[in-house]
Amino acid sequence: MLSLSSPQPSTTTKPTSLLRQHHHHGHPTLKIRAIDAAQPFDYETRISTRYIQSTKLKIAVIGFGNFGQFLSKTLVAQGHTVLAHSRSDHSAAAANLGVSFYVDPDDLCEEHPEVILLCTSILSTRSVLSSLPFQRLKRSTLFVDVLSVKEFARDLLIQSLPPDFDILCTHPMFGPESGKNGWKGLPFVYDRVRVGKEESRVLRCERFLEIFEKEGCRMVEMSCAEHDRHAAGSQFITHTMGRVLQKLGLEETPISTKGYETLLDLVENTASDSFDLYYGLFMYNKNAMEQLERLDLAFEQLRKELFEILHGAVRSQLFGEAERGGREDERPVGWELPSNRRALPPPSETVGAENS
Ligand code: NAP
Repeated sequence: MLSLSSPQPSTTTKPTSLLRQHHHHGHPTLKIRAIDAAQPFDYETRISTRYIQSTKLKIAVIGFGNFGQFLSKTLVAQGHTVLAHSRSDHSAAAANLGVSFYVDPDDLCEEHPEVILLCTSILSTRSVLSSLPFQRLKRSTLFVDVLSVKEFARDLLIQSLPPDFDILCTHPMFGPESGKNGWKGLPFVYDRVRVGKEESRVLRCERFLEIFEKEGCRMVEMSCAEHDRHAAGSQFITHTMGRVLQKLGLEETPISTKGYETLLDLVENTASDSFDLYYGLFMYNKNAMEQLERLDLAFEQLRKELFEILHGAVRSQLFGEAERGGREDERPVGWELPSNRRALPPPSETVGAENS
């Protein structure tokens, strides 16, 4: 409720029935007890409409496959205008989602989207970027990528884009499977690689980030290099294990434990992603090779631990009596079980690595 004091008689045009005049020390005091209902021509209404419009973005999704379509659903639901272009013709899927599909990238760029959202496969992003007619875009355009490897994406965008374009590198750490029931609490990693100082550029980037904030994502600002170190040790390992288990052809059993069901879920979660994606995680993250080697080593170590025990047991059966009568230091050590906590030393790059 507004409260307004004036020493002068009011010249307001509000209906007088809503105004009460009080006299203090001989001066009339004006109090407004109610204001009229908001009308479309009201200042406040106009401001709020303009505010709502200003928070909406025109976003062009390049690469309208599995992940591009998944993200577009939420972009449309939040009221953003979404355009799309892809190698294949996805116009039917686009129409279903309320997205305008452009077969020709020139036509899409001439629509002057404020944001270009790259959802192409890791392997194809370089060639897709080089095929985009940048000169048809507005001179100030924000490029955002969602590639699952970040150092590669950052370097590629810096190299390929005209210097006037802003760059925001992101990685939503979820997909159509893990995010099918909403994005609440799911991590969203981002790095403002290059955002101009002008207020409009800063705001545009913030408005884009707000899309994920609004859905309840856990927003994690992190450099691309740091992302790749963490992702190789977590996401790449997860996808690798999922694919190894998939090769085993695991099936439901009538006595499945919780742990086993977790494994089946893991297979389901990773198997629906394309092999392109998995191969990209390996090829374009320099930390992935070491993780693969560590996985090999860990498996080898475990096998060795089992075989040492087995070897010890067999030896003591075969030579037990003879050895017990023999010299102390030749006794088999097999029955001493190794501790559960033995782990490989941490990967070289993650130890004491600096953020860059
Ligand atoms: P993907 O297999 O990595 O990428 C599929 C997309 O790449 C499709 O739009 C496809 O276009 C396009 N593409 C593939 N090869 C191409 C080529 N030679 N030329 C032009 N376009 C090509 O699967 P995705 O799951 O949709 O992932 C897309 C991006 O999102 C990837 O960079 C991935 O790392 C990232 N990401 C995925 C997830 C996830 O859970 N899936 C999560 C976070 C981030 P067409 O469909 O038109 O053929």
